[in-house]
Amino acid sequence: MDLKKLLQPFKLEKNLYKKPMTLVFPKEALPPVENYRGRQLLNIETCVGCGMCSRVCPNDAIVMVEFNDKKCPQIHLGKCCFCGLCAENCPTGALEMTSEIFIAGYDRSFALYDPEKLSKSE
Ligand code: SF4
Ligand code: SF4
Repeated sequence: MDLKKLLQPFKLEKNLYKKPMTLVFPKEALPPVENYRGRQLLNIETCVGCGMCSRVCPNDAIVMVEFNDKKCPQIHLGKCCFCGLCAENCPTGALEMTSEIFIAGYDRSFALYDPEKLSKSE
């Protein structure tokens, strides 16, 4: 008789008393890994409204909108693939990728980040 198979039920019982490996999200979460690309953060002061971020976006997730008498990007995170090209090509560094990962809501409107929402760190 295979001894390993015979002892298998005892192995299972041992695991019953172990701490679970899963986390109760979102109350508990692991810190994001280094260089993780979450949502963008916009510095309205240094944005010059050039529209470069919008032109390089492969998913057409960015449209330029009027904000405080100038054009600023508005990003639809539902279309964004978090490639980081918008931030990489911003000539003034006004747009940066953050490690913010809590992007969720009850309807699709949560994903529309106008310049004001984009400039706030959550
Ligand atoms: S991260 Fe990529 S897909 Fe998302 S808005 Fe920027 S360029 Fe577009
Ligand atoms: S965020 Fe950067 S690339 Fe986009 S419009 Fe402003 S300055 Fe230009």
